[in-house]
Amino acid sequence: MAIERTLSIVKPDAVAKNFIGGILAKLEGAQLTIIGAKLMRLSPAQAALFYGVHRERSFFQELVDFMTSGPIMVQVLEGENAILRNREVMGATDPAKADAGTIRAEFGANIGENAVHGSDGPETAHEEIAFFFAQAELQPR
Ligand code: ATP
Ligand code: MG
Repeated sequence: MAIERTLSIVKPDAVAKNFIGGILAKLEGAQLTIIGAKLMRLSPAQAALFYGVHRERSFFQELVDFMTSGPIMVQVLEGENAILRNREVMGATDPAKADAGTIRAEFGANIGENAVHGSDGPETAHEEIAFFFAQAELQPR
């Protein structure tokens, strides 16, 4: 198995509800190591760029409005199969369909306000990490 890095975001709904600690505990509990982290707020331009792949979808503006509605917590996770492992701990996009014990089942409200983002493949992980972090901001160990 390969050691990978992936990008994780605690979305505005979950930050507002003080779920940062609960969510990071689930990630660390899944053998994902936090090697970079920051609390920040996205501008509309940044959110539109980050979710650019969805720009033609009906929910795009809703998604940008939501992602800019409050602070987010962004972290880089490192570990064996980190990309897939993070997606497994996150659960399905729609919290109502997410397996019990997953982050979205426990902390998500609905398909829009679903508590977390996670990179969906090696290429997006690489791009999304570079979107938020300089190499010098990461502390592998
Ligand atoms: P993410 O990219 O945030 O990790 P995901 O990969 O599980 O989530 P995507 O299909 O990439 O799901 O959708 C990106 C985000 O867009 C979702 O997490 C959700 O916040 C929002 N979204 C997706 N589908 C809908 C929808 N039908 N209505 C409202 N928002 C949606
Ligand atoms: Mg996605």
